[in-house]
Amino acid sequence: MTLTEKLLARAAGKATVSAGENIWVKADILMTHDVCGPGTIGVFQREFGAKAKVWDRHRVVIIPDHYIFTADSRSNRNVDLLREFARDQGLTYFYDVIDDPNGTWKFDPARGPLRRQYGSRYAGVCHAALPQKGHTRPGEVLFGTDSHTCMAGAFNQFATGIGNTDAGFVMGTGKLLLKVPETMRFRLEGRLQPGVMAKDIILHAIGEIGFDGATYRALQFEGSGIAGLSMDDRMTIANMAIEAGGKNGIFPYDARTAEYVDTRTRLNGTRTHYEPVEPDADQRFVYDSVIDLDRLEPTVACHPDPGQRKLARDLGDVQLDRAYIGSCTGGKTSDFVEFARVVRGRRVRIDTFGVPATPEIVHDLQTTRWAGQTLWDILLAAGVQLTENAGCAACLGGPVDTFGRVNAPLRCISATNRNFPGRMGHKESQIFLASPATVAASAIAGHIADPREYFSTVPVAES
Ligand code: SF4
Repeated sequence: MTLTEKLLARAAGKATVSAGENIWVKADILMTHDVCGPGTIGVFQREFGAKAKVWDRHRVVIIPDHYIFTADSRSNRNVDLLREFARDQGLTYFYDVIDDPNGTWKFDPARGPLRRQYGSRYAGVCHAALPQKGHTRPGEVLFGTDSHTCMAGAFNQFATGIGNTDAGFVMGTGKLLLKVPETMRFRLEGRLQPGVMAKDIILHAIGEIGFDGATYRALQFEGSGIAGLSMDDRMTIANMAIEAGGKNGIFPYDARTAEYVDTRTRLNGTRTHYEPVEPDADQRFVYDSVIDLDRLEPTVACHPDPGQRKLARDLGDVQLDRAYIGSCTGGKTSDFVEFARVVRGRRVRIDTFGVPATPEIVHDLQTTRWAGQTLWDILLAAGVQLTENAGCAACLGGPVDTFGRVNAPLRCISATNRNFPGRMGHKESQIFLASPATVAASAIAGHIADPREYFSTVPVAES
């Protein structure tokens, strides 16, 4: 069995399963957020009763993150609905925007979009927050009301996005009927060269198969190249499995996975026990390919879908209006580090927005110093508009006052994960997806640029 089949067999209490089989699967965690949470709760209460209790109050994790820093009153109200539900249910893990359990959330536009407006429990973008807060464990099943839930496959778990109706059912029962997906294998061999990032791997892979090339399939990543990938790198890759239509993305378990998960579960007091799944010798795949990391180059997914693959060095004639670094895919600490390596000592030529995925990442950027200067200050000095209000922000457009939202028919290069028309706001805008390094180089050039031309060769003193 493949990693996904093995994991699902275990979650279904069966010795074996095969692709195409329908099975009942036990959930380990159900995650929801401010956009889909109220709808999920509505389904749950309609089907199970207004006073019904969730199947396990320690396994429903609620993370408001999407439409938070906006004056839109209905968006603010969604956070209040989640708070009321979490309180009534006695949920252990509700990462509220504010500290007062009886308060109401209201964004204050008069204080501006840049300065922090959240309390001590706020966790930021759900997919980045789940691992940071110790909710991702190898061998487990994670359902989330968000298509990029597949990001947690980096941790050797089955993680997939589900709709509100399914989520309402999981909320009441802790299980879900699933069809076992076929598995496609991508063997990563070699090592990424300077200026080339994990984002380039997944943009290359999606370019190979197209934005619907993995529809309802598992993407399994293997190979000697994985050892050189950080957990952030693996998250970037697994996150975008859905951009090829995948049901989930999954990585093998190794010492790096263990170190991350053990640290985070201990730090947050979450469940420390887990059982990873190892690959079988007789795995069968519907697709098998090798990606040579040594030869990979900075890659861009052009408008209008994530499968429109081109090399950054061939796109120098694409003039840009805007650059954006942020989201679950491209707003992690390591993403900002690579971005900073390129912009350090330079100035961006176009409007450039930076949105860290979580408050912890904001803290990292404000405390990590290179030669006495914080990463935060390096980015500000380069002309990047950076906000402390970690969240999804303009990754999916959002209300018109959302920080960085593309409100006009602009061309934007972005470290996010999705570029279908209208994704970041205006329906006639054009979004080009790229790695943080490529976004940085392009922000400096004012057109799409290969970051290898800008990469600093001077060793950076870090503290
Ligand atoms: S950052 Fe973007 S892709 Fe990630 S959860 Fe938020 S809206 Fe979705």
